[in-house]
Amino acid sequence: MMVKITVDQIIGGIKMDTIFYNGKFRTMDKMNPEAEAVAVKDGIITRVGSNEEILALAEAHTKKVDLEGKFALPGFSDSHLHLIYYANTKRKVELSQARSIEEAISLCKAQLQEKSKEDGWLLGCGWNQEDWKVPVFPTKIDLDKISQDIPIAITRTCYHATVINSKAIELLGLNKEIPELSNGIVEVDENGQVNGILRESAQNIVWNYMGVPTLEDLKNRIEDACLDAASKGITAIQTDDFETFTGDTIDLIIKAYHELVSEGRLPVRVYQQCLLRTPEKLQAFLDKGYKTGYEFGLYKIGPLKLLNDGSLGARTAYMREPYHDDPSTKGVALYDPEQLTKMIKMGHENGMQIAIHCIGDAAIEMAVNSFEQVMLESPRTDPRHGIVHCQITDINLIERIKKLNLLIYAQPIFIRADKNIINQRVGEELGSTSYNWRAFADRNMHLSGGSDCPVEKFDTIPNMYCAVTGKNPERDSDPAWHPENCLTVDETVKGFTWEGAYAAFQENERGTISVGKYADMVVLSEDLYQVPEDQIKDIQVKMTMVNGEIKYSDL
Ligand SMILES: [Zn+2]
Repeated sequence: MMVKITVDQIIGGIKMDTIFYNGKFRTMDKMNPEAEAVAVKDGIITRVGSNEEILALAEAHTKKVDLEGKFALPGFSDSHLHLIYYANTKRKVELSQARSIEEAISLCKAQLQEKSKEDGWLLGCGWNQEDWKVPVFPTKIDLDKISQDIPIAITRTCYHATVINSKAIELLGLNKEIPELSNGIVEVDENGQVNGILRESAQNIVWNYMGVPTLEDLKNRIEDACLDAASKGITAIQTDDFETFTGDTIDLIIKAYHELVSEGRLPVRVYQQCLLRTPEKLQAFLDKGYKTGYEFGLYKIGPLKLLNDGSLGARTAYMREPYHDDPSTKGVALYDPEQLTKMIKMGHENGMQIAIHCIGDAAIEMAVNSFEQVMLESPRTDPRHGIVHCQITDINLIERIKKLNLLIYAQPIFIRADKNIINQRVGEELGSTSYNWRAFADRNMHLSGGSDCPVEKFDTIPNMYCAVTGKNPERDSDPAWHPENCLTVDETVKGFTWEGAYAAFQENERGTISVGKYADMVVLSEDLYQVPEDQIKDIQVKMTMVNGEIKYSDL
């Protein structure tokens, strides 16, 4: 555990462990917005000031790190991602770069032997048919062109659908019997044969078959994934991990994080978003003594996470009106209103913060109704409940969210792929008030930024570029998505630093470069506030520090 340094100790003069000097710090602390140097003792910032002032504190043992005049910010915070899913994707064929089914097939073919050797399966992830020349969902017929002998499963970027080949269908017994599922679909073709597309919980048929890793494997995967995050300037994450594997692996996951903390091997701060879909699962979790705020060093239990709908790409986001491009559906609600209210009430009354995945306007409205009812019945001081994604909105809905003081966990990087489909899915009018970060900022709502990695990469810089410009960082000549709904650079930086800390009840411990806070910082190649907007995406992360320890350096 960290020990906070008192003002007396600072005035009395203490030995500094590390001094970071010759930097261009933008502290995000209004009392002291700019500085050249920062002194750190036991992981805590003890002084922020000029090179002269701070270097004068150095003693023989003090480590001095020259930042070469580079720009530095509080470490980036990613308020919603899936760390262990990301770790698992590292052993999968990455298909997000494919621009056609043919390209996806050849990527899989090229890595067939290498990537299938661990357990005999070829897994792929990250594909999005909306990025393809012919935007058609793949089926087993496409995957059979990769292999007829090795089972294959490729998961869509949204994680709401997985496609498998004939060998996998055979191994899973789906050619003999198709199970009835409450929250999932095993799709069949016009002849009643399984076509390889598994939606929502039907994907678990594959993951159940594949089993879970050992504790040591899991620890290695987590540590490795956290180091990747640190290399992108991230010093704190909120991660939703509990359903990464099928079966009850919550104890295994928490144990892996605990052991990494004990061994000094957890590179970044982790705030667990606890996906517990049913009252029984939540009760079992509470019975073990866990609740929001439970702390084990760098690992902390965060909010109860609930999933209220699917994704816009797969047309499973739950909408008030039928889809503009498919009037036969309004998407999928994963709870009915009474069930959702019951879950929220239970979490709320048991001291859990609550964060609900809602993408469609009907899903958001349902969550707002439930929050309103529960918070009125059982008032609680500062619960910091919130809505994850919160994409399809109108102004009235935003006003209601504001009234309840709900946090928004936004993913500006989603605009990269979604800007091509928003108007198709919901029509121009509703589209123009959706992905509307400006409306949240104008109302002084709590808006934190995240990547939903591995849905998108967790690189914060391109994510910030999207928030500021509304453009696709990979195709910046394409028109922007409603630039009037974008954020300023300062609002964006706040969203990826202080607001991330606030969303985790840690704004007094991190989120700005201030005396008494953890020395979590990032050094960048350029001054984010000075470069022209279109060059933000090219900024490089040069160094990342957590508790004053350098976790990544390219200086
Ligand atoms: Zn997510």
